[in-house]
Amino acid sequence: FAGNNSDFLKGVVAMDGLPPSDRIEVCFAGRSNVGKSSLINALTGRTRLARASNTPGRTQEINFFTLADSHYLVDLPGYGFANAPLPVIEKWQKLLKQYLSGRASLRRAFVLIDTRHGVKSVDEEIMSLLDSSAVTFQVVLTKADKVKVSDREKVLEQVRKALSKHPAAYPEIVLTSSEKGDGIATLRSIVATLD
Ligand code: GDP
Repeated sequence: FAGNNSDFLKGVVAMDGLPPSDRIEVCFAGRSNVGKSSLINALTGRTRLARASNTPGRTQEINFFTLADSHYLVDLPGYGFANAPLPVIEKWQKLLKQYLSGRASLRRAFVLIDTRHGVKSVDEEIMSLLDSSAVTFQVVLTKADKVKVSDREKVLEQVRKALSKHPAAYPEIVLTSSEKGDGIATLRSIVATLD
């Protein structure tokens, strides 16, 4: 997909704002600072594409990007934003649930997890939500370059163990570094082969 006209399409705040389900869709979720923007940028070959999702005001929207002419790449901004007022959190969670359970074109969710930190309780929450929404999800470990090769197996084991409790989990874990480019081609081909 690299260089293949990927663009920010729109930020969606309610179900009636969703674009038509006329493309293959994948979504990306992860705690803030997990490296989601960096990964989306690396994946699309656009250096500043996903910056839009991190700007204030966009953090409670479902952000749609086009990927080539065939896909939507969807950025689900930071879950676990503990500091937001309760009504904001509740509105966001409602939209998230509606989106995940009602989107026919959504083929897979990618749950991003920092290789240094492993699966945290907020990650468990999104995985359970994906289970109950029947959305297949795949874990992408980010910032792998920050963890020694010899220490990575321990993290992988912790993630595998967590995944074994989730019926919607896809077993293959993708280890990535947006900084070094590791795993990006693999992830791109996973997205490209979904149909
Ligand atoms: P987001 O909040 O999930 O969108 O995270 P960002 O993509 O903005 O990244 C958060 C921080 O982690 C930034 O300082 C990035 O430069 C850094 N970062 C992201 N990906 C990597 C990576 O693969 N390796 C390293 N070393 N740092 C990364």
